[in-house]
Amino acid sequence: MTTPGQISVEARGGMPALADRWPLLAQPTALVVYLCGTVGLALSAVVYLGASTRFLWPELLTFLALMACGAVCIEATRRLGMPAGVSRDLLSAWWLPVALLLPPVYALLAPLPLQFLLQIRVRPTVLYRRVFSAAAIGLAAGVASLIFHAFVPDPAASSLGSSGPMALAVGCAALFTVINTALIAVALHVADRDTRWRDVLWDRERALLDVVELCLGVLVAIACGLSPALLLLTLPPVVLLQRSLLHAQLKAAARTDAKTGLLNASAWQREADTEIVRARRTGETLALLIVDIDHFKRVNDTYGHLVGDQVLAGVATALRSQLRDYDVVGRFGGEEFVVLLPRADVTEARRVAERLRSRVGRMAIPVDDAMISVTISAGVAIMSIHGDDLIELLAAADLALYRAKELGRDRICLPVAPAPSPPAQADNSEGGIP
Ligand code: GH3
Ligand code: MG
Ligand code: MG
Repeated sequence: MTTPGQISVEARGGMPALADRWPLLAQPTALVVYLCGTVGLALSAVVYLGASTRFLWPELLTFLALMACGAVCIEATRRLGMPAGVSRDLLSAWWLPVALLLPPVYALLAPLPLQFLLQIRVRPTVLYRRVFSAAAIGLAAGVASLIFHAFVPDPAASSLGSSGPMALAVGCAALFTVINTALIAVALHVADRDTRWRDVLWDRERALLDVVELCLGVLVAIACGLSPALLLLTLPPVVLLQRSLLHAQLKAAARTDAKTGLLNASAWQREADTEIVRARRTGETLALLIVDIDHFKRVNDTYGHLVGDQVLAGVATALRSQLRDYDVVGRFGGEEFVVLLPRADVTEARRVAERLRSRVGRMAIPVDDAMISVTISAGVAIMSIHGDDLIELLAAADLALYRAKELGRDRICLPVAPAPSPPAQADNSEGGIP
């Protein structure tokens, strides 16, 4: 399950890291209203459904057994750590059986103990996020449970494995996922209106994980419906899946620069090396750019480091938006970025670099009452002309960047061409160097 307690689009450069740490009342009013409204709705549903539910011991014991499985899952994966930014878990494998097998009020209550455990044992986060997560999951599971019980009034007595109830269980599990995702997507969109819907709804990876969760949840529900003792057989595979999912996310996080969502320096270097070896083998051209924000220190000095971080994230997003999927872009360190352009020759590399320069130059980042604009300079190096391996290309691009700075910034430069080959290659985007 994806929860906003863990969601932060900072990894994609969308939501400023700064806003993530603000308390609830410092968030935009629309977001506060939306979060409070969702939590209020969940609380009202708990009171309303709780008043009309007869709590029976067997159901309470099943609830406790499913929560215990969830707790074991959390504890078993806790030591692996939790990646920053968007993260996924498979706790729906326990929430869905609660929704399908027990009266709806249990579905509303189920997220509470597990979110509490996540908060104290795994990753403490701003409390209102946890509360909203619990409310969103509870509401989604509550609606799925209400619909399922309207058609299958006594799931414990009727076999969940038979075709009718099973098809309905799958449908309700899908509804649970859709409602939960929608509730969280709206929160992210209200928090940052610039966030695109497709970034907060499904991509292929997220949809696949949702399907896996749905299948797991329904299978665990069928097993638990046959006998709660069968939970002992479902627990190990779910734990194993949860661990491998977390492992994959941690691996991805280890490659990523947390501030900008781009590749970090070592991951970029590995990918760049691979591309260079491939280009040498196939004889294709390749270009390397080093991009540096001009006078970035002034931004920090004027507005503070946290705003500087927002500018970094904004520039990273702008760079990414102008590049092809197979271009390799990373944060080299500080306010420097590196871009590898496979199959780009001098003309193409200059065209791309110029596009990046003009895109960043047109960008305005709103901060308090002001709009911050920055410019970038870039050094360009071409494989076989300015260097034959990564070190040589980086050195040549760095030299070119140095020249761009010397010539007044906000421009693109190539290194001076190798001495004996007239005419000189050196130039800049504004019309050549003196
Ligand atoms: P130039 O045009 O010559 O590149 O000037 P500059 O001010 O951009 O370059 P300089 O090297 O003097 O300063 C770089 C600044 O970048 C100094 C440092 O505080 C800042 N910086 C480096 N990493 C980060 C970061 O992660 N966040 C923030 N906010 N600032 C950073
Ligand atoms: Mg700079
Ligand atoms: Mg620099």
